[in-house]
Amino acid sequence: MTDLLVNEVFESIQGEGAFTGVPSIFVRLQGCPVGCPWCDTKHTWDVHEDRLRAADVIMRQNEDSEDYFKADTKALFSLFQQHGYAARHLVLTGGEPCMYDLRALTEMAIEKGFSVQIETSGTFEILCHDKTWVTLSPKINMKGGYKILPSAVLRANEIKHAIAMEKHIQELDDLISSVQLKRLPMIYLQPISMQKRATELAVKTCIARNWRLSLQTHKFIGVE
Ligand code: SF4
Repeated sequence: MTDLLVNEVFESIQGEGAFTGVPSIFVRLQGCPVGCPWCDTKHTWDVHEDRLRAADVIMRQNEDSEDYFKADTKALFSLFQQHGYAARHLVLTGGEPCMYDLRALTEMAIEKGFSVQIETSGTFEILCHDKTWVTLSPKINMKGGYKILPSAVLRANEIKHAIAMEKHIQELDDLISSVQLKRLPMIYLQPISMQKRATELAVKTCIARNWRLSLQTHKFIGVE
């Protein structure tokens, strides 16, 4: 069984996109080479062997850290139980979770009656159970030089795009038209860092295109 490198596990409320407001268990995986300048989880980018810790040490940490623990699927579910998590929605995030083969984890979660969501940049092949909800947050032309895979656009149940200026809308249009979609997935625009101009642009575009607005609502209510 493949081990996952886990930066943190916590229970909270999903603050963004289609599952906004849904109580969720978040599993944040370590590692991401994509290099978005505004990334708010830069501590998940690198995997340093000397930052490997025991799971209970990570579970006691309250701050962002490059530390991580190793766990297989079974160990993760035992951890959820041990911590008394009640949420029935599992969010796999990162870092870039699709650097890992997520089939075993998503299969077990669905078997146990969870709904499962992956939040991915679309730069790695998405390996998961068919019933997994895939949130593609395409990171276009970032420093790491990774391309968005057409298979990720085709697999997406929702596209949640971070924007600050018109060129980001154009990039999204180009990405969508680069594949033959039978049906457009739900599209959410999310203003980067909730800046005023970005928010105005997102609102205006959502109204004009009949898209949806995604706000980082967890930041308004002060939860992780
Ligand atoms: S893909 Fe996500 S984790 Fe990776 S750099 Fe971009 S925002 Fe950060």
